[in-house]
Amino acid sequence: MQIYDHPTFRMACQQFDLVADHLQIPEFERARIKFPKRSMTVALPIHRDDGTTQVFPGYRVQHHLTLGPTKGGLRYHPDVTLGEVAALAMWMSWKCALTGLPYGGAKGGIACDPGKLSRDELERLTRRYTQEMIPFIGPQVDVMAPDLGTDEQVMAWMMDTYSVHAGYTVPSIVTGKPVIIGGSLGRREATGRGVAYLVNRATDTIGLDISKTTAAVQGFGNVGSVAALSLARYGSKVIAVTDAFGGVHNSNGLNLWELEKYVAKNKTVAGFPDAEPLTNEQLLVLPCDILVPAAMERQITEANAGKIQCRILAEAANGPTTPEADVILDQRPEIFVLPDVLCNAGGVIVSYFEWVQDLQSFFWSETEVVDKLFRILETAYTQILTVSRKQKLTMRLAALSLGIKRVQEAKRVRGLFP
Ligand code: NAD
Repeated sequence: MQIYDHPTFRMACQQFDLVADHLQIPEFERARIKFPKRSMTVALPIHRDDGTTQVFPGYRVQHHLTLGPTKGGLRYHPDVTLGEVAALAMWMSWKCALTGLPYGGAKGGIACDPGKLSRDELERLTRRYTQEMIPFIGPQVDVMAPDLGTDEQVMAWMMDTYSVHAGYTVPSIVTGKPVIIGGSLGRREATGRGVAYLVNRATDTIGLDISKTTAAVQGFGNVGSVAALSLARYGSKVIAVTDAFGGVHNSNGLNLWELEKYVAKNKTVAGFPDAEPLTNEQLLVLPCDILVPAAMERQITEANAGKIQCRILAEAANGPTTPEADVILDQRPEIFVLPDVLCNAGGVIVSYFEWVQDLQSFFWSETEVVDKLFRILETAYTQILTVSRKQKLTMRLAALSLGIKRVQEAKRVRGLFP
């Protein structure tokens, strides 16, 4: 499908083809499982604050509708394209299936730089996007959530726009919204918290004492900052953090609570006192026990995979490692990979809890949320580790094969209409 052509989409397809070969999925079944069911491209005109009008391209891809509504984040970033969004939607499908959630995958995005838009402009853009998507979304159709460049406030504007259109309040149209309007306790922290939980399990698996480990984190947004703080709570020493504007390193450990305050004020980790400057390229090859890419796709490539010096690669971002890098990592058994579809699944798991709570108008305590989150992650981790060991597969192929197989089985049992 030419319309999706993009390096990240090719990467998702390459991974799918490897797993389809392993699972011996017949050729005639593959395209039905692989390609997105629906995709929308919209032109979003908004009034800029200076009185001019600007049009932004917006996208939404719904990968499959076999197991329930589609579910996935909304990304605001200048490089967003239909192909990137389609790849992210595909990964969401495997992630939801491998954790047993009743969803297909989806993803959306607007090609814009949210840092260069005022709050009013962001609100107008978000409302316009939601308005354009109304025929294609709904609590039983497609449910959005925050991703790179979007947050709770963006979700609140989406929920308000949809509700005004419906004529009544519809909290279940988005997840990751503020708690006061039907968000779930523990949703904002869910992805990073899940990352740290799984890293702790991985340290057990490979015989590392987490309280003696060091960690480096790329990206200090929602996922990276919570992952760093949660790792520190498990006793790991976070020695380096980078973001889109630079980075910092202190081999004695960074004071993360001070760093959070610094970022709230300065919008970047760069320049944080009591630390050396560090680039993203340097962070990825820094000697450390736990490396957490928590920013963008395709960061670990053929060029640096041989130079990475960690014991656990915890993929908090979606698609941070290219298939070419995977080939190199396969030759490096000293590195234990927690693949993205497992590692960052905490976000969609608690989004699912939020959706369930909204549909029932019955809300859970944070303890209940975290307990249920860890149970689902534990089951998925154990299943993937077992498949990986029994079938001699990498953790990535084991995770993807569990997810893809479930989607294949669901499609088979439902049959093909008409
Ligand atoms: P965010 O916008 O809150 O934070 C992104 C961080 O990455 C920021 O610190 C930003 O400065 C940094 N960054 C951006 N471009 C960079 C670059 N080129 N190099 C280094 N750093 C860069 O986004 P987020 O919600 O934390 O998402 C981060 C990643 O996690 C994405 O891949 C996203 O798809 C994935 N993810 C997010 C969630 C979620 O619940 N938010 C769930 C699952 C996966």
